[in-house]
Amino acid sequence: MRCPLSEGRTQVVFGVGNPNADLMFVGEAPGQQEDLKGEPFVGRAGKLLDQLVMEEMGLSRESFYIANTVCCRPPGNRDPKPEEIEACQPWLEAKLELIDPKVIVTLGNFATKLLLNTTQGITKVRGRTYPYGKATLVPTFHPSAALQGGGGDVTSKMRADLVRAKKVLAAC
Ligand code: SF4
Repeated sequence: MRCPLSEGRTQVVFGVGNPNADLMFVGEAPGQQEDLKGEPFVGRAGKLLDQLVMEEMGLSRESFYIANTVCCRPPGNRDPKPEEIEACQPWLEAKLELIDPKVIVTLGNFATKLLLNTTQGITKVRGRTYPYGKATLVPTFHPSAALQGGGGDVTSKMRADLVRAKKVLAAC
């Protein structure tokens, strides 16, 4: 209850997946389906992500871990506010420390800006890798960008980023 998002949530959406995973995804915030089910990325964006990860990396949900920058659903699916992201940051940092992934894929602007400590948008920073502690960070678009009109261009760039993440994983 560190921020006002606690007031409207059905439940905390902590994260899901393999706690010993080498690969961890960090998204934005829970939506309606996630809030109801208590699991990240269970709606349309999650299904697209699962499909792309399977097709480009050959990995299913059980093989990786996935969480968001904030654990509680912003009302009406609005963007999380900077102070909410900051309030939830200790939980995300604890998850990153406990999972200790070799590769972190950030999905979209919020996770990418937070973990890279940058104000630059995802379109500018994607296309390469970055060190993050002992891990390697691979930024890519949020799958909802592909569903909300980004279409084939966003999807093909996400595919390229996932292949990049796969190569980093293979080299670890
Ligand atoms: S979003 Fe994070 S900090 Fe805010 S109430 Fe939920 S768990 Fe706590």
